Amino acid sequence: MKLLIAADMEGISGVVAWDHVSAKHPEYTRFRKMMTADVNAAIEGALKAGADEILVADGHGSGNNILIEDLNPVASLHSGNAAPFAMVQGVGSDVDAAMFIGYHARVGSTPAVLDHTWSSRVVANVWLNGKIIGETGLNAAVCAHYGVPVIMVSGDQTLASEVNKTIPGVETAIVKIATSHQSAQCYSLKESRGRIREASERAVQRLKKGEGPKPYQISKPITVTVELKTSGMVDGSSLIPNVKRLDARRVEFECTDMLHAYHAFRSLVGMTF
Ligand SMILES: [Zn+2]
Repeated sequence: MKLLIAADMEGISGVVAWDHVSAKHPEYTRFRKMMTADVNAAIEGALKAGADEILVADGHGSGNNILIEDLNPVASLHSGNAAPFAMVQGVGSDVDAAMFIGYHARVGSTPAVLDHTWSSRVVANVWLNGKIIGETGLNAAVCAHYGVPVIMVSGDQTLASEVNKTIPGVETAIVKIATSHQSAQCYSLKESRGRIREASERAVQRLKKGEGPKPYQISKPITVTVELKTSGMVDGSSLIPNVKRLDARRVEFECTDMLHAYHAFRSLVGMTF
């Protein structure tokens, strides 16, 4: 059984502030170790339940956060940015299931630690076929393009309720209870890693019995609507062929499938940097 573990940083055990996940801040060195440990907990649970091949994708910022020297050597690690599949690099029809570790709620959620969608500087909101969506949904939809279900997610309680609505039947490991955008009641590391380990093990056991969640399919063609933070950002992005400006801050475009939608969305956000 081949598993993709896609990791972000905002929903990692103990993380409550942007300083914790910003590579230039002195606190960051502590939290990249915590990120590696949360991923290791997911790997341990999956191995216990019978997974035998594990790809880890480092999906936060530059993609250079997880410490390979501390990562369970059963897994291989994809590092760096910008790979064609970004946060879910490694996904393909040969992957049996995906897990999202250290994820966060979509922009505009509260209380939610570091809620945002793709870029806190650029993106005010995203909709697929008129339905509001966060990073979990976007990445789960890319996995579904290859028939891959997301079977387990870790983060705060608001991320867990978001993902329970998007992907019914998904296992969730809540590692902290958010109390605002940059505060949370964090479980001890022993407790939160135990939760991740157990949820991962349960998710793989259920997958083996054919009881896991279905891939998160978006019906085609896919209309992508993006609200950017400023009208100036839309001045540039609305010049792209087939991108229609709806109003000062929103653009819309139609895509044949989710892969096209993901790439177009990332290009549009990327050009505003
Ligand atoms: Zn991140």
